[in-house]
Amino acid sequence: MKIHFVGAGPGDAELITVKGARLLADAELIVYAGSLVNPDILCHAGPAARLVDSAGLDLDEQIRLMFAAVKEGRKVVRLHTGDPALYGAIQEQIDVLASRGVSCEIVPGVSSYSAAAAAVGRELTLPGVTQTVIITRLAGRTSVPEKESLRKLASHRASMCIFLSVGMIDRVVEELAAGYTPDASVAVVEKASWPEQKIIRGRLDEIAAKVHAAGIDKTAMILVGGFLSGESFSPSRLYAPEFSHGYRQGKDK
Ligand code: SAH
Repeated sequence: MKIHFVGAGPGDAELITVKGARLLADAELIVYAGSLVNPDILCHAGPAARLVDSAGLDLDEQIRLMFAAVKEGRKVVRLHTGDPALYGAIQEQIDVLASRGVSCEIVPGVSSYSAAAAAVGRELTLPGVTQTVIITRLAGRTSVPEKESLRKLASHRASMCIFLSVGMIDRVVEELAAGYTPDASVAVVEKASWPEQKIIRGRLDEIAAKVHAAGIDKTAMILVGGFLSGESFSPSRLYAPEFSHGYRQGKDK
């Protein structure tokens, strides 16, 4: 008995993997997180598939539904937004299903942090600026260990992708100010890759007011770091004409 946990991608129905789309087309039961998954993605489902929004179901009810179907030999897909491995609350499902003899295969997806970086047209790992991406969130109903507080992480001044926190933008700014300068570049991308995608850009000390003015309070990614402005960026050596590597002989200058 096997259930596929499929990453739906950030919203655009074409940003799902070929494997994910094939599994959706074959599935007989699709349990999807309706609060976040763009319903457009369900265009990949076959006509006979039963579609169930998990938003109104607790963990027990979801497990019962999926277990009953898989036990009857039906093909079951659990569809999660972005990449299921990030803030997907999949572990508790996988562990309970495993204890009932159901194995789970995770099909990765395009995370919203990738879609947000694409939306602003920037590379997260700019040589000379940073080679590190921090994926994190502010504590909400789910706590964050103190050693990973936004304040501490900000001290690295790496590229940061902050999930699940735009509704607390004032606190985010306060914490980030412990590490970044007031003029640090910030971009907030709401519904990256959806038709209604919106991008707000600004300095750290003005971004909260802009976000409030735009009325953004959920489904948005907060990006911060020098990668947004390209400060003291030094191009990668990878494509430099004189640079030799395993796949290319460099040209003499
Ligand atoms: N597994 C998902 C994240 C789920 S948590 C992923 O990999 O993207 C939900 C949070 O993800 C939201 O609060 C928001 O911060 C972010 N998010 C999800 N979809 C988004 C989108 N299309 N644009 C911007 N942020 C998004």
